[in-house]
Amino acid sequence: MVIESNKILIAGAGPVGLAAALFLHENGFESNIIEKLPSPSIFSKALGINARTLTLLEKSGVTEKFLANGRKAHSINFHYKNKCFIHYDISKAKTKYPFLLVQTQAESERILSEAIQERKIQIIRNTELVDCNSSEKNVEVTLKSADGNIVKNNLPYLIGADGAKSTVRKNLGIEFPGESLDGHWNLYDVELDTPINKDEGHSFLFDDGGIFMLRIKDNIWRVIGCVTDLLQRIPYGTKTGKILWKSDFQVNHRVVDNFCKERIFLAGDAAHIHSPLGARGMNLGIEDAYVLAELFKTNQQYYYNSLRKPAVKKVVEMVSRSTKIMQGKTVPAKLFRKFSPLLNYLFPLVSTQAIKFALGLDHELNLSKLPIK
Ligand SMILES: Cc1cc2nc3c(=O)[nH]c(=O)nc-3n(C[C@H](O)[C@H](O)[C@H](O)COP(=O)(O)OP(=O)(O)OC[C@H]3O[C@@H](n4cnc5c(N)ncnc54)[C@H](O)[C@@H]3O)c2cc1C
Repeated sequence: MVIESNKILIAGAGPVGLAAALFLHENGFESNIIEKLPSPSIFSKALGINARTLTLLEKSGVTEKFLANGRKAHSINFHYKNKCFIHYDISKAKTKYPFLLVQTQAESERILSEAIQERKIQIIRNTELVDCNSSEKNVEVTLKSADGNIVKNNLPYLIGADGAKSTVRKNLGIEFPGESLDGHWNLYDVELDTPINKDEGHSFLFDDGGIFMLRIKDNIWRVIGCVTDLLQRIPYGTKTGKILWKSDFQVNHRVVDNFCKERIFLAGDAAHIHSPLGARGMNLGIEDAYVLAELFKTNQQYYYNSLRKPAVKKVVEMVSRSTKIMQGKTVPAKLFRKFSPLLNYLFPLVSTQAIKFALGLDHELNLSKLPIK
C-alpha cells in the first residue's frame, strides 16, 4: 500500500468517501481513499437521490450519469386503511430536479467510482484504518492491510467516512449521543405484481405502524416498514414473487458531539445515523462532503462543526419525529396516524414542508454566512 503523505486521506469508499474525493478534487485538493473491503458493496441500501445531491454533483458530471441511469419518482402517496388521502406532487416544486431519483446505492457508488478513476484518484482496497491521532501540525494514521501488514503514515488531514461504526470517531473519543428506538424494522427488495402506481412512492399507515413502498426497477420493489407480517400487509391485489434482499434493523437517531477534532473530520454515517424515512442518510452525508470541500477551498475547514452540526441535527430531529409517528405504539402516535388526513387538509403548509424535506431543500448550507471570506 502506497499512501502519498502530501495528500488528504479519506477512510471509507462508501458514497460519502467517494463524493468527498470528488468535491476536494474540484477544489484543487488531492486525496487518497482507503477501504477495508476488497470490492464494492453490492447492496441496494439507499435508493433515493434528492434534488440537493443532484445539484451538488452537477459540476462533476456525476448528476448527468445518475439521471441517465436512475428512474424518477414524481410523487408520494399516503394511504390509511388502503385509501389514498395525501398525494404529494413533487413535480411542481421550484427546483431544477423536482423528483426523487431512484437507483440502488451500488449503482450510485459505481458511477461515483468511475468519476474517481477518471480523475486518477487512488482507491486503496484491503486497507483498514486501525488508529489515528491528530496534532496541530499533522495526522498520524496506522493502517493494516489484509495480509496483516501494519504501516504508520503522517498526513496533512484525515476524513473519516468510515460508516456508522466509525473507527475514526471511536479513536478520537467523540461521543455519538442519541436514542435507539424499540422494535424492529424489516426491509425487502422483492418482485411484486401490484395494482398500485409504479412510478410513485407509497406510504401505508395502519393502527400498529406503517409501510413504505418504492419501485426500484422493472417489477422489483423496496418494501420497508415497522409492522409484523410486512409482506402480508401490502396492498390488496398484490402478488409477491422472489425476494432478492432481506434485512432487519433497529432504528437509531444519533449525531456526533463534534464533527471534527484538529485535523480530522467526520462525514456521513460516521457522524449521523437515523431511520431511512425520507431517504436522507446518504444524501446528508454527500452534503457533508460538499460543505467540507468548500471549506477547504477557503481554508475555513475548522468551521465545519459549527456549520454542519445544527443543519444535520435539524434533519435528524425531523426524521426522528416522523419515524415515531410511523412506528409509535403510544396513543398520541396512533391518533396522529389516524387523523393525519385531516391534519393535512387543515394545515396545507405541512405539504409544502414535506416536499422540501423529500427534496433535501429544507435547510440552507449557509456557506456564505461564514465570518471569514
Ligand atoms: C439496510 C439499509 C438500508 C438503507 N436504506 C437507505 C435508504 O433507503 N435511503 C438512505 O438515504 N439511506 C439508506 N441507508 C443508509 C445509507 O446506506 C447510508 O446513509 C450510507 O451508506 C452512508 O454512506 P457512508 O459512505 O457514510 O457510509 P458507508 O456506506 O457505511 O461506507 C463506509 C465505508 O467505510 C468502510 N470502512 C469502515 N471502516 C473502515 C476502516 N476502519 N478503514 C477503512 N475503511 C473502512 C466500509 O467498508 C464502507 O465501505 C440504508 C442502510 C442500510 C444498512
